[in-house]
This record gives sequence, C-alpha cells and structure tokens, in this order.
Amino acid sequence: MKPANTQISPDPETELVSWGWNDKLASDFETLSGPDLEPGRVTVEFNQFFRIQTGQGEILAEVSGRLKHEATSRAELPAVGDWVTIRRNSQDDKATIHSIFPRRSKFTRKVKGNKTDEQVIAANVDTVFLTTSLNHDFNPRRIERYLAIAWESGARPVILLTKSDLCPDPESMVARIRDLATVPCLPISALNLREEFLAAISPYLIAGQTIALIGSSGVGKSTLLNQLLGENRQKVNTVRESDDRGLHTTRHRELIRLPNHTLVIDTPGMREIQLWDLEEGVETTFDDIESLSSKCRFSDCTHLREPGCAVNQAVNAGQLDSARLQNYLKLQGELQTLAARRRSKRPPTRPPARRN
Ligand code: GDP
Ligand code: ZN
Repeated sequence: MKPANTQISPDPETELVSWGWNDKLASDFETLSGPDLEPGRVTVEFNQFFRIQTGQGEILAEVSGRLKHEATSRAELPAVGDWVTIRRNSQDDKATIHSIFPRRSKFTRKVKGNKTDEQVIAANVDTVFLTTSLNHDFNPRRIERYLAIAWESGARPVILLTKSDLCPDPESMVARIRDLATVPCLPISALNLREEFLAAISPYLIAGQTIALIGSSGVGKSTLLNQLLGENRQKVNTVRESDDRGLHTTRHRELIRLPNHTLVIDTPGMREIQLWDLEEGVETTFDDIESLSSKCRFSDCTHLREPGCAVNQAVNAGQLDSARLQNYLKLQGELQTLAARRRSKRPPTRPPARRN
C-alpha cells in the first residue's frame, strides 16, 4: 500500500494534455521538431522572458535570436496561450524558444504609434466569455463591440450576463441580447454561483480547452474565476511559489488551470481590450480634432492652455464645438490612464520633442 502522502508526478504527456495538448498539436510538432526540442505552453509573458509550462514543470525561456530576427511583426513573437518549441540551455536552468505552433485563434491589438504592426495579447482561446453585468453596465453597443472582437479572434463567443441577483428581470435582458446576436447568452450571479448557473456555464468548461473573459472592470470576472478555482481561490492574480533557492516570490500567472483542467487566460491585455478598442474609435470619431492637433506648436499639446494650440484656435474661431472638444479630452484622459499603466511596465520613453 502506498503511503497517503506520496506525490505522484504525472507522466510528461499527461501533464501536457492537462494544459491543452492534443493530437493536432502533436502532428504540428512533427513538422516543427528538431534535435532536443520539446513542446510547451506560454503561461506568462515578462519583458524579456516567458514562463513556459512543459511536460516536466515550468521553465523560463527567452526567444531565440533567429526567431526574433526572422519575425516581421510583433505578432510573430510568442504570447500567453501560445504553444512553442523550446530547447533547454546546457549552461543554466533556462530554455530558448525556437518556434511557435500555428495558432487556432488570437486576440490582437495594434502597436501604438505604428499603424501596421500588431501584437498578440492572447493565443489559442477556444471560448471567450463576453462579460457584462446586468445592473449599471448593461450596454448593447458594447456587446456588439465585444462580438466584433470575438469573431475577429477566431474564438467562440458566449455572452455572460453577471450580477443577475441585482436585476429584477434578467430574462428580459437576455431577450434583448438575443435580438442582437444568435450566440449563447447566460445570466449568472458570480457571487452566488448556484447549481443552475454552474450547469449553464459548464458545457464551456471542458478539460483541455481554453477560455478567456473580457469585460469592463467590476463586472465580476475575478469573482467568477475565484469561484471556479474553488479551494485554489484568491490565486487568480498572484501565485506564491518557491524558486530553486527556496525563496518565496510572488508571480503573476496569466494562463491558469482550473481543477477540472479547463485553461483560463486572464492577462491585463485581455482585461483592457475594450479600452484599446476605444483608442482606435477615438481617433476615427474625432479625426477632425486629431488632424488639427498635428498643427499645434507642441507635439504633446494637451489643448488646454498651451500657446500655439491649433485646436483652441479652431474653438475660438467658431470652427469647432467646445463640447465636442471636452468629450474628446475626457476620452483621451481615460486612454492616458491606461497608457501610464502600460508605461510603468516598459523602459522610459524619450521626452517629447518640440516641432520645428
Ligand atoms: P472584475 O473587475 O470584473 O474582476 O470584477 P470583480 O470580480 O472584482 O467584482 C467587482 C465587485 O462586484 C466585487 O465587489 C464583487 O463582490 C461584486 N460582484 C461580482 N459578481 C457579482 C454578482 O454576481 N452579484 C453581485 N451582487 N455582486 C457581484
Ligand atoms: Zn493643441
């Protein structure tokens, strides 16, 4: 008889399958294979390193010089959710990423300041929960935007209407959504994930399949994930683990495995996708102001009180409605908050240049 506490480590194949490995990936691997290459899945993206889940635990890996060199766009570099081939380094406990498996779906965004380059924020998502709450947040226009993002990605959309406990008549809201789209639409309460709600979402929580959630802040995404994690709750955003020196470090894990082996992608990028979407929308909606801005004396003009501001000159000349400018500045403010958060993760940029 085995002692009760023995940890049985699964064989590498079983472990990979629990992260989504399947026959299709196995046959892709045959075409990507090379000496000592092994497959793994990206669970976290750091600045330079990626955390890779392999058949034998996790390892930090860096993109090979060749892959970096041959990438014609940032979209050809690894992202959370990607399957990659790695080779373990002989001189340290890290690895090198040599190639990326073909993606079955991807969520992308344009790289700021470069209209043609795109960046993948999550890859290989099977089902995306478009999450909106049934109280103040309910907005059919936003749901249409989410649907557009989902169809573009290749993942299957499912609409989750959260906080049904705060809505007197969830079914009438569901009927309004059914007028917009013929996709599954599930009212749930994440706070009180009763049997009936679990039964509604469980057909999408399939071992080896990957889900992701998008939706405004505060609609209940973390609450739902924590409920699904059960005993592992509170681990959605941070995981305490010891490294090889026995030190405890806190790390973000962005691809999470639920107890039933459904995989969940929860990256800051997916959480902010709506705002990024807004960014393009703002530029298109206010293209008159955007083109006036290019004539301001300072390239980083805030159009508040700078000298030589072409936007304010247009307002003073009666060519631009000041209420329109106010709305533009308000939306820009939201985008700047987002940009500041993103900048804090990146090296500082050069100070803005004065136009000459
Ligand atoms: P997130 O930003 O989408 O991750 O939202 P959170 O999960 O952090 O939830 C925001 C707030 O809404 C928290 O105070 C939750 O307790 C509350 N909340 C989440 N789901 C529900 C729900 O189904 N019903 C009610 N009444 N409150 C909820
Ligand atoms: Zn200006």
